[in-house]
Amino acid sequence: MNIIDGKEIQNYFKNELKQRVSNISDSLKLIVFQVGDNSASDIYVNNKKKLCEELGIICEIKKYSEIDEKDLIREIGVCNNDKDVTGIMVQLPLPDYIDEDKVIESINPLKDVDGLTTVNAGKLVLGSKSLVPCTALGIIKMLEYKNIPVEGKNVVIVGRSRLVGLPLQSLFLNKNATVTVCHSKTSDLKSITKIADILVVAIGKKEYIDSSFIKDDAVIIDVGINRENNKIYGDCNFEDLKSKASLITPVPGGVGLMTVVMLINNLIEAYYLQN
Ligand code: NDP
Repeated sequence: MNIIDGKEIQNYFKNELKQRVSNISDSLKLIVFQVGDNSASDIYVNNKKKLCEELGIICEIKKYSEIDEKDLIREIGVCNNDKDVTGIMVQLPLPDYIDEDKVIESINPLKDVDGLTTVNAGKLVLGSKSLVPCTALGIIKMLEYKNIPVEGKNVVIVGRSRLVGLPLQSLFLNKNATVTVCHSKTSDLKSITKIADILVVAIGKKEYIDSSFIKDDAVIIDVGINRENNKIYGDCNFEDLKSKASLITPVPGGVGLMTVVMLINNLIEAYYLQN
């Protein structure tokens, strides 16, 4: 079977996290800031809350239909100084009138469970201990779980966002892969993706990558979540790729399931960084 079963891997990590949470005598508390009305964000935030509850973690959602940037930053500051708060995250995207970078930078890096502050991003580049963006970390954990070797492999990442592509570049490089990052200005994308032993696609374009982009037996990690008529599609054409790839993640049921468990992983890491 060459399909990577995200549910199986999620369950494995959930059990591991349950164990790690039970080893901590203090209670863990996650604060999620959400601004505006966005139905996809509601789903993500609820999934986080559900998993926290399952693991005995307090999850408080601070949802505002509207809030001034300054007030939001002040609220984050209150949580930074509250020693009962283990982790803070801001559900993205924020409405256009708020400067996302400013808001993210206001989070104490030791509580930055999404790993998005420049301190954590910089540490990751240098290979020092840091809180790592959840989706990128989830992909690495998924490959480790499946015993897929990374060292010396050609890894091609399509997409260079600070949530996915950029942190993954460092994670793979730190694991001694040879990494190429592609983006919307890359010319002749196919000629590059075709050298990939491991291809990660995070572009937000429904089923953009088909079998003409890959070599035989490549490992395909599809990060994309594209919603259309109440259905979710990946960035890769799963049906076309599955017979050519040696392993492939489905959408849904793949990478997305790892993202939420890695948030809890980061919350535990944040606890130890502060204690
Ligand atoms: P962004 O929109 O922030 O970044 C998209 C990246 O893809 C950019 O670097 C862009 O290049 C590049 N890109 C766009 N079109 C092309 C193209 N035709 N060829 C090559 N590169 C291209 O997206 P995110 O990284 O936030 O998300 C990507 C996808 O992953 C989305 O579908 C999102 O929903 C999903 N996602 C899923 C998660 C999960 O848990 N499974 C978590 C996070 C995201 P440039 O920089 O030049 O603009």
